[in-house]
Amino acid sequence: MTLDTIDALARPHCLAVFGALHPGAEDGAPGGTGTIVLIGPSEPGFWPLLTASGEWRDGAPDPVDRWSKRVIGALAEGLGGTAIFPSDGPPYAPFFRWALASGRAWASPVRILVHDRAGLWVSYRGAVALRDRLALPAPALNPCESCAARPCLSACPAQALTGEGYDLPGCHAYLDTEGGHACLSSGCGVRRACPVSQAYGRLPEQSAYHMRQFHK
Ligand code: SF4
Ligand code: SF4
Repeated sequence: MTLDTIDALARPHCLAVFGALHPGAEDGAPGGTGTIVLIGPSEPGFWPLLTASGEWRDGAPDPVDRWSKRVIGALAEGLGGTAIFPSDGPPYAPFFRWALASGRAWASPVRILVHDRAGLWVSYRGAVALRDRLALPAPALNPCESCAARPCLSACPAQALTGEGYDLPGCHAYLDTEGGHACLSSGCGVRRACPVSQAYGRLPEQSAYHMRQFHK
């Protein structure tokens, strides 16, 4: 089995391998895990596929998490592995740590994760823990190293997400103002400003949904 094989199995569900690691004892993986494979949305196409699903249309809570558990759970079972989800906990699986160890995500200048394909829109729908140690590719290039303008640092109109970190109350306060409409309807302006995010193809509707969950 290879990461490319897993990626090919994920693609019909508009999912993709977003990185992988061989966890050490300090990485919080289930015992006996040889490889953790991180799974994220493959754009374009993820949101139309998800919103056509039964989980979205049945009106019950947490459709995105329920869809992820069904689809990635089946993927993991078919691979003989164990599915792990960011929403399961406490204790929560250390996805941030795994992302940094995956060779495809880094701490951005605004301290949130940036991914080589998804940019600041990176999200992990789940992970698959496998017993085998799969071959890992060479680490990807950190896009921030060639991003001279670094628009993420100055994009927040409320100065709530900057190189100094994230001012959560300041962000929520701004979203309650008229100026916050763009963030609520299209997603966080900092995440939108990143050129890697812009090339990823995520729909504003998806970001609007997550903003509604965030700013209830
Ligand atoms: S805008 Fe540039 S510096 Fe900021 S996260 Fe994106 S690639 Fe990195
Ligand atoms: S959602 Fe808007 S106000 Fe909040 S951090 Fe992002 S850009 Fe700033």
